[in-house]
Parts: sequence; C-alpha cells; structure tokens
Amino acid sequence: MRCGMNDITKMTALELSAAIRQKKISVTEAVNAYLDNIEKLNPELNCYITVCRDEALSRAAEVQSGIDSGRICGRLAGVPIAIKDNICTKGIKTTCASKMLENFVAPYNATVIDRINAEGMIILGKLNMDEFAMGSTGETSYFGSVKNPVNPERSAGGSSSGAAAAVAAELAPIALGSDTGGSVRQPASYCGVTGLKPTYSAVSRYGLIAYASSLDQIGIIGKNSADCAALFDVISGADERDMTCSKEFAFDYNSVRAENLSGKRIGIANEFLNVGLSPAVKQNLLDSAKRFETLGASIDYFDLPELKYAVPAYYVIACAEASSNLARYDGVRFGHRSEAAKTLDEMFVFSRSEGLGDEVRRRIMLGSFVLSQGYYDAYYKKAVTAKQLITKAFEKAFERYDFILSPVTPDTAPVLGESLGNPLKMYLSDIYTVTANLAGIPAVSLPCGYDGNGMPVGIQLMAKRFGEAELLSAATAFGKEADL
Ligand code: GLN
Repeated sequence: MRCGMNDITKMTALELSAAIRQKKISVTEAVNAYLDNIEKLNPELNCYITVCRDEALSRAAEVQSGIDSGRICGRLAGVPIAIKDNICTKGIKTTCASKMLENFVAPYNATVIDRINAEGMIILGKLNMDEFAMGSTGETSYFGSVKNPVNPERSAGGSSSGAAAAVAAELAPIALGSDTGGSVRQPASYCGVTGLKPTYSAVSRYGLIAYASSLDQIGIIGKNSADCAALFDVISGADERDMTCSKEFAFDYNSVRAENLSGKRIGIANEFLNVGLSPAVKQNLLDSAKRFETLGASIDYFDLPELKYAVPAYYVIACAEASSNLARYDGVRFGHRSEAAKTLDEMFVFSRSEGLGDEVRRRIMLGSFVLSQGYYDAYYKKAVTAKQLITKAFEKAFERYDFILSPVTPDTAPVLGESLGNPLKMYLSDIYTVTANLAGIPAVSLPCGYDGNGMPVGIQLMAKRFGEAELLSAATAFGKEADL
C-alpha cells in the first residue's frame, strides 16, 4: 500500500525510513511532502531562513539510487532533516540569524553534517533561531521571529525556535539544534516536541559556530525519544577535528528500549518546586512523577541549594566566552563590513555596531566587563567556582539517583513581544535548563501535557555524563506510557 502526502509528514523519522526501505514511499516523495508543507506554512511560521529545494530534490534522487543499490544503508537513510543556521553547511548559507553573517557561505561542512550525509539523510534547509543562539524566544533573529505552531501569537521558544516549530508543524521530521543553556530543550517544550541535549563532548562541535564553547552542544529535536536516539547514534562519537570531543564515548544504540523502570530511582530537587513555577507546569511535573512511578520507578526529593547560583554563573560564563568568540566579527575577515567607515577603527566599530543586534551587543559588553582587569576575580572566577559546585552537587545526586526530574521552564510559551523588554526576567526563565550545561550532563525535554491556554508543557529528565542510553530508554518508556 502506498502512502499519501499527509501520512508521510505524520510519520516519525524511524517510521519514514522503514517505509522507504520497504519501498512504500520513495525518497523524492518524502522530500516533496515536506517541501509542500514548507511552501504552505513557512511564510507564516518563519521556521526556515533558507530552503534548499533544488539541492534536496537532486539529493533525494541520488540517495534513492544509493538505497536501491545497497550502497546507502543507514537506519535513517532517505529521511529529510532541517539544520539550525549556526551549523556550517558547505555551499549553503549559514547566517546565525545575524545581519553580520547574512551572506556567509561556509566553505566546509560541520562534522555532524558529514555524518548525516553519510547516513543518507537529506537537508531541507537552514532554520531560524535567536541571533548567534542568544535568546529564549526566537525574537532576536535578524530575520524576524518564529511563530509557535500551536498558537502563532506565541513564541516558539529559543534559541532553536525554527527547529522546534518545524518539527511541531511537520515542516521537518527531525532537526539539529544547539544547546548552550537550554536552546534545544526549551523550544521543544514550548512547541510540544522532544529535545535532547547530549553530554558535553559526546558530539563534535566542529563547524558549530561558537557561542560559549565550554557549554555549547549540538542537540536534536524530534517527534519522540526513539527518533532522537537514532539520530544521536549518527552524530555522536569521536572526531579528531574537535579536541574536546570524547575519544572514549560510544553510544550503545541497541541498549535503548522502552522498558519497565522498576528499580530506577528518580530525584526531584525541592528547590525545583519553589522557583516561581506556574501552577500548570507544577501540576504537570507532579503528574509526570506519578507516571514514572506507574512505570516502576521510585521518586524521592532532595536539596539542591546550589541551584541559586545557576543563572548568574551561566550568564557570566556564557557572556565571557561569547565576547571572546564573537571578536572575530570585525569586518575584516568575513561578515558585514560597514560602508560608512573612513578609518580602520571606524571599520571595526561600525561593522560590529551595524552587523550585530542589541542582545548580542549587550552580551559582548557584559562579557568584556566580567573579564576585564579588576572585575575578573569578582565575576568570572566566582562563576567558574559556582560551575564546579553545581557539577559536584549533580555528581553527588547521581550517587543516589539514576535520573533527576525537573520542569523545563517556569512557564509555557510567552506571547510574542512581551519578553525582550525585560532581559533579566528572560534570563531567569533559563533556571532549569542551564544546570545541565554547567554540569556537562545529558538532558531530555519531553512533552507531558498542556496548560489552561492549550499551550504545551514539557518536563526535563537528566542523567549522569554519558548516560544517554539509559536516559533515552527511560524517556521512550515515558513517551509510550503517554500514548496509552
Ligand atoms: N536562553 C539561553 C541564552 O540566551 C540559552 C541559549 C542557548 O542555549 N543557546 O543564553
């Protein structure tokens, strides 16, 4: 039996690749189904900055013949994918949603792109995001904000706003994002899809345009945890082009299965319930804890007083690293160069002032300040100490628990236009997600319900470093239970 276009975009990535293998669908049909949806819905939702229509169609034919001849046999062969626009793609624009890189075409592929190509996946296009991945609502993009497909008046979250909205609205079956402080998990939660932030160093960052190098990880947004596990298997693993990428870690995909969680211990920090949680998010967290109990896990509460350091430590470290990483955009080597400049100094200053948006400039200034002589000890050094305290606190908690359960955000997706005026409030809403980046641990955000306005609510499950196989098994079990 052949499938209709609608059926195609309803399938998970694994279902789609199975249907392609069984010749129920051709790769071109799969790509066309998504290109049609993009054409219909992208003008309103604004998920994609660049759509690679022609490239995707010619690649579809190439992949199909590879599958037919047995040359391409990846588990996700033939599956279309969309890429956040801060991951370098050779010959395709990579803008970081910034005027600075509006016309930048990377001369090389990120390692993850080489790996998805080798798997036989097909790139549909590049996804909208907060400028240079700085933001929580998608509204700092130079290309305009992404709309939440559940309610277009609301934000799709950020910074991987396009990735979450594209998967939720069926403009891509799966997507790659990046997560420095929650940018995969938070938008996934706002849009009702699944987001995985891997262990720091599990996935190569080669070709990911840096925001804060000690926190950045490429992550996955998918329709469910099984899809995320399949793509994680493709992109993770050692890479000699990224010295921080672990040489030892090898993901055991075959051990991921939705099984009974009896004997598993889940911890919830008491502090998670006291940080200005909205009633709907709190209720969903407690209901999710019960759902884990019915799957056989035990729930326990513990103290995590270090949580109060998380947001300040994160913003000091992230801004410090950003100020250094973004120093390369000076109008000389690549990116925007001011036409108005008459002297060398003016070229640096004007190019940066014209090319970078308000939020990015705010963070560069903050970062330069905390690294400057006289303030380095008071801010940067303290933040690094706080990062170590948080890492230790999590290590200690994982001596007692297999997983830690938390909200993803204090509230559901905000109405567009209401957040940028109050950056401090926006920063504080990252409290639950930044801890996993500071501690370098894997975390997944799972859809679990809705609030009174019909907006999706997510929960976050965290595991110890390199615990992705266990984490995704528990997440898949939770997802299956939700389907019942
Ligand atoms: N909202 C956070 C920030 O603006 C997280 C961003 C991210 O993970 N890229 O820094």
